[in-house]
Amino acid sequence: MTGTDVPADPRRRVPRTDHVLARPDVSAAVERIGRDRVKRAVHGAQERARRGEIVPEDVPAAALAALSGGSATITPVLNASGVLLHTNLGRAPLSTSARDAVARASGTCDVELDMATGTRGRRGAAAVDALLEAVPNAAAAHVVNNNAAAVALVATALASGGREIVVSAGELVEIGDGFRLPDLLQSTGARLRPVGTTNRTHLRDYTDAIGPDTAFVLKVHPSNFVVSGFTSEVDVADLAGIGVPVVADIGSGLLAPHPLLPDEPDVASTLAAGADLVTASGDKLLGGPQAGLLFGGAELVTRLRRHPLARALRVDKLTLAALEATLVGPPTPVRAALDTDPAELVARAERLAARLADDGVDARAVPTVATVGGGGAPGVELDSAAVSLPEPFAAALRGADPAVLGRLAGGRCLLDLRALPPEADDELAAAVHAVAPEI
Ligand SMILES: *Cc1c(COP(=O)(O)O)cnc(C)c1O
Repeated sequence: MTGTDVPADPRRRVPRTDHVLARPDVSAAVERIGRDRVKRAVHGAQERARRGEIVPEDVPAAALAALSGGSATITPVLNASGVLLHTNLGRAPLSTSARDAVARASGTCDVELDMATGTRGRRGAAAVDALLEAVPNAAAAHVVNNNAAAVALVATALASGGREIVVSAGELVEIGDGFRLPDLLQSTGARLRPVGTTNRTHLRDYTDAIGPDTAFVLKVHPSNFVVSGFTSEVDVADLAGIGVPVVADIGSGLLAPHPLLPDEPDVASTLAAGADLVTASGDKLLGGPQAGLLFGGAELVTRLRRHPLARALRVDKLTLAALEATLVGPPTPVRAALDTDPAELVARAERLAARLADDGVDARAVPTVATVGGGGAPGVELDSAAVSLPEPFAAALRGADPAVLGRLAGGRCLLDLRALPPEADDELAAAVHAVAPEI
């Protein structure tokens, strides 16, 4: 192609990398997240301009957009879903003291150093001590990555190489996202020996199955469903003394009984009933970080702690810091939400709705029923209250800043206050205000 009357090829107008990097907004991004990543984003945007997907003038903006503000893309979400432990929202929110502890531990810290002697210390000793203080009838405790890891460690240490785990057929559960406890157990090289039926299992089913190949009996608490009707199961107390160790996976991580959750097993009572080992999650009803908690006799726990697999399942300093602070600190947000008086929730919903209605939003306070969620206490209904808004608010609020997750019911968007701390009410109102003009 020749001739001066041909329009300039827009590709020639793509700004040079050094020019883009010199802009104040782009150089600010370099300060925040480093030159390499920003440069890659600029190159990507230049490439898009050359392909004609964006106009050359938009290269800086496209590069900045691709950097998503320069921080991790995980975004805080206000939990107005009415589900206390929402797996998709990262289960338990950490307490303020646990968040502070995480921040303090995130640099170099004494996670495995005895500062008095300057020599190596017991890793995570403070978190284990806090667990034992919280559950005085546990002789020993150990912390791994999550409850699935705790169960895998027990199965590997006690039953790998084809030894048998005797477990009720009614307790071979799917934990979530397609993961099934029986698959996890078998992946360790253990053999499963299901006993009884889906709805009924008796003590003699266990005693008939126990033999020289039995490694342990496993009791699994159904955390995400309820079986009702013609059912029967055998309690830990009746299995204790059966001749092999009894391992109880209680799931939710309640350390002691909670009056609102009478059917939810807790660590102390399960040990008192005679379990040799108890496993639980750290980020369900305990209200702490993701972790797997193991409680039991000193000999068994030491065996687990020393098993080679334990090294692959160990938690980092951030988890240990958060766990300790959760245990020794004030009531967790999960506990506070659980213990909130429903009348207080109604008052909050009315205040918020009135405030929003004053500004022309179609908002009203309504009574609702909240739940604990996949993290435990299936079937438990918690009286709650919500701000009810027109349905289109639901999608708009998910994209708001801060993002809000409500739930849809009866053609309305409900912002349930049970899982939301009162301190978040102002933020919630601000988010609704911010999106109201788009509705
Ligand atoms: C939640 C749960 C698990 C899985 O726990 P994670 O901490 O998510 O690994 C295992 N067993 C039971 C009974 C549970 O409730």
